[in-house]
Amino acid sequence: MCGIVGIVDAGGVSHSLYYALFALQHRGQESAGISTWDGSSFYKYKGMGLVSEVFSEQNLKELKGHVGVGHVRYPTTGANLPENTQPFNFRFQDHHFAIAYNGNLVNAADLRTEFELQGEIFSTTTDTEVVASTIVDEFRRSGKIEEAIIHCMHVLRGSYSVILMLDGIIYAFRDPVGIKPLCIGTTEKGFMVASESVAIDTLGGTLIRDVQPGELFRITEKGFEAMQIAVADRRAHCIFEYIYFARADSVIEGKLVYDIRRKIGASLYDEAPVKADLVSPVPDSGTSVAVGFAHHSGIPYLEALMKNRYTGRTFIKPSREERERAVRLKLNPIIGHIKGKKVVLVDDSIVRGTTSRRIVGMMKESGAAEVHVRIGSPQIIAPCYLGVDMPTREELIASTRPVDEVKDSIAATSLHHVSLEALVKAIGIDRENLCTGCLTGKYPLSIEGESCLSRNIDFVIGSYQAKLGSFPPDKTAA
Ligand code: 5GP
Ligand code: MG
Repeated sequence: MCGIVGIVDAGGVSHSLYYALFALQHRGQESAGISTWDGSSFYKYKGMGLVSEVFSEQNLKELKGHVGVGHVRYPTTGANLPENTQPFNFRFQDHHFAIAYNGNLVNAADLRTEFELQGEIFSTTTDTEVVASTIVDEFRRSGKIEEAIIHCMHVLRGSYSVILMLDGIIYAFRDPVGIKPLCIGTTEKGFMVASESVAIDTLGGTLIRDVQPGELFRITEKGFEAMQIAVADRRAHCIFEYIYFARADSVIEGKLVYDIRRKIGASLYDEAPVKADLVSPVPDSGTSVAVGFAHHSGIPYLEALMKNRYTGRTFIKPSREERERAVRLKLNPIIGHIKGKKVVLVDDSIVRGTTSRRIVGMMKESGAAEVHVRIGSPQIIAPCYLGVDMPTREELIASTRPVDEVKDSIAATSLHHVSLEALVKAIGIDRENLCTGCLTGKYPLSIEGESCLSRNIDFVIGSYQAKLGSFPPDKTAA
């Protein structure tokens, strides 16, 4: 996944970038970095760990300037290595580049091989460096960054939301089908782009709108320009952003994620009603779904598990033993709420099944009479090639097992996953404009060894047309 942010603000950007990355920490906990520009020099700092672990007050003071980009990394491609941290910084013919990238390219290996055959060398194993080479490849020909980004849209296949800082100007663009989110907003004295609107909220800014699929923004101190570069005949927004990845308080495509998840919870009750004493979320990812379930069913909302706030996301830990220990560290059952009770447990998703099995086990050990598990996504049956770190089919508990077997495997009294129809309805975007690869095994782009949706995406790449944007929008312009 990864979280990205770019800010132009006359008042300085290092602290703003730091807080924005803090707001996007859920999108990646492995490493964090910031690059800034003060009009003549380039500053950068990055490291492994959480935002709060990487930066000190001293680092932030040294990150001078009024323009900058930041990144939090969650490894999908490229190993867990310090050299793979972002932003990816480089110089080319006296130009300073910093790239913060969120996504996953399906043709990265091919592109890399092509470049290597031309004698290029790579210093990381990330897709970001492939994006950088693609940009430079065209930039050295035309000297125009817009042309280089158009070139990217021609050759990159996969998901990409990119924020590029070039000599103090921010360029932000999103792949033609908009798989990963990206939005633009105001700051106190400028503008920012970020993966999610919560980063804008945190800085006290105002969300202007989402960057459209295939759109390029150019942001300077004076304002921003938006250019529609590629126009596709459909979109492929990642459905998993709505299920799990995005923060519930983010607004994506004009919709509050919390509301979507509450609707999912209500549908879960309609599809698989149950008589129970309480509805409890598996915190935090199941909370908003559980709220919707409780409200709609009239069953009291009461937490059966308390979360220790000071642990990271357990899924992220690389080894299985580490993950299992982390679950115990993270969640404590509230026996007084559970003993002798019929409990509905609500979570957002089941991936490997480890979390659910453990939590149902805790409920039983705490004396629960019945444990009904309700999941806010359909069964995850296939891997993601476009940026979510979904394991292989062998590790996905639902890829080879029907729901009934999964129910037995996690020892639940009953188990129900929300239907794809109800999920899509809650999101409010047509199914054909969502990427449902992990839920259906059918992908919006052709991927080797996988089936593609019958209607592949077609897009046209026009010569770009700049329209000057202002905020608030200039009413006389229309
Ligand atoms: P499981 O134990 O079944 O493998 O994982 C399920 C739990 O992991 C759920 O509570 C869900 O919130 C969380 N989860 C699902 N997908 C992801 C993901 O891509 N990344 C992270 N960090 N957690 C996930
Ligand atoms: Mg969870």
